[in-house]
Amino acid sequence: MSRLRVAIIGAGGAGLCAARHVLSRPKIFAPPVVFEQTKSVGGTWVYKEQVNSYGNGMPIHSSMYRDLRTNIPKEVMSFPDFPFEKHLPSFVHHTEVRKYLEKYCDHFKMRNHIKFETTVDAVVPVRVENGWNRLAWDVTTSDGNDPSPSVESRFDAVMVCNGHFFDPYIPAIPGLDKFTGTVIHSHNYRSAEPYAGKSVVLLGAGLSGLDIAMELSQVNAKVVLSHGQKPLIGPLPPGVQQSPPVSKVLDDGTLEFQDGSHARPDVFLFCTGYNFTFPFLDKQVGLKVKEHLVSPLYKFLIPPVFPSLFIVGVCRAICPFPHFHIQTQFILSVLDGSFPLPSQEEMEKDIELDEAARRARGIATRHILKLDSEQWAYNDELARLAGFQPLPPYWSNLYESNKVFRSQDMLNYKTYNYKVLSQEEWTVQGPQGQSLPKPLL
Ligand code: FAD
Repeated sequence: MSRLRVAIIGAGGAGLCAARHVLSRPKIFAPPVVFEQTKSVGGTWVYKEQVNSYGNGMPIHSSMYRDLRTNIPKEVMSFPDFPFEKHLPSFVHHTEVRKYLEKYCDHFKMRNHIKFETTVDAVVPVRVENGWNRLAWDVTTSDGNDPSPSVESRFDAVMVCNGHFFDPYIPAIPGLDKFTGTVIHSHNYRSAEPYAGKSVVLLGAGLSGLDIAMELSQVNAKVVLSHGQKPLIGPLPPGVQQSPPVSKVLDDGTLEFQDGSHARPDVFLFCTGYNFTFPFLDKQVGLKVKEHLVSPLYKFLIPPVFPSLFIVGVCRAICPFPHFHIQTQFILSVLDGSFPLPSQEEMEKDIELDEAARRARGIATRHILKLDSEQWAYNDELARLAGFQPLPPYWSNLYESNKVFRSQDMLNYKTYNYKVLSQEEWTVQGPQGQSLPKPLL
């Protein structure tokens, strides 16, 4: 049989990881074709100072802000087979992550396989006589800078790695149009200076929300951190106070919170996350995005009716690069036949049972993709099913410990430095180089 042809959409962390693994199996896979709509590799780590759109009218993809440093230590943020440079601190500036992805791309010789400034416009399944599972994919692309007609190519499989942090989600708040101050989503936030001394209601206490609240505090903004989670336990930055979610905007532009209190800030800043979007996927695929759930996907990856299409990285609250590393290897085991997929009906049943089990544990639909601490069992399961190396044991323990430090000490946790001693053991030092006790997990 001829080698399998794989299309990869996007050259961010997920797409690069996919390309790296496809290239590592040249007997079974032809070199992949990676379609990347921008001029660069790195996806969201390619910081842009401008907002809204690039010069050619295409919307800005990156959601980075100028001073962002990672919230995951490099010791567990990296791809397991490609560590960050030794001299770097555990929490690196975003420019280092971009450099890291550039190096990953060059080390595994991927660049020649990437078609830059090429946007995937359509991905259509075709039934064929031969080919993987009698299925193939027609991928139509265009070059935004060139009036030449779009190009169609046929592939055996498609890995969708288009990222999930570029289309801002703004919740429907009654009366929002009456707000007279500045409304902004974190996608368009770049630095704190424009907010110096201003009053800001910041909606959402996820990682970006907390990080941006800290930046705003440093320029003496008065921040109301409005969120629906349990109250945060650690000390908050100066000038930041918590409140329940905003329930509506009154006719005079005043924000009303769920506890009946009010505020009239200069700025209403949404750190409320992003929508999933797959505008190029043909309707026949039947992928639904509803309440932040992308379904149906077997193992959060594979539409049962079209099992040579792979939607990489839709899970949330995960450690992204290792997650991509695991998902990609699982996908290749599916394609090379070393993990024979269950039947369509069995996969559909599996999805149904998995979702039902999560709902029975009180997990709302919008949180089903939020794996959080369950990501480790998920990763291990994929590695076991497909028979490849799982992540080393220290990975989950170090990652989960960082989460505890973050919740207890949001002001300083990025000054800690970790050291991995063995497959099981690691240590951590505080800002003054002092050894810190590991948290109880
Ligand atoms: P992206 O990086 O978004 O890449 C997707 C690529 O696909 C882009 O290059 C895009 O141009 C391309 N593309 C999209 N559509 C098309 C199309 N139709 N045709 C062709 N190309 C297309 N992760 C961490 O591990 N640690 C952190 O500290 C961390 N902090 C973060 C902070 C912020 C503010 C954000 C937004 C994310 C952060 N993340 C962090 C998560 C981050 O998203 C992942 O690390 C990872 O970069 C996601 O990679 P991706 O390839 O899935 O998506």
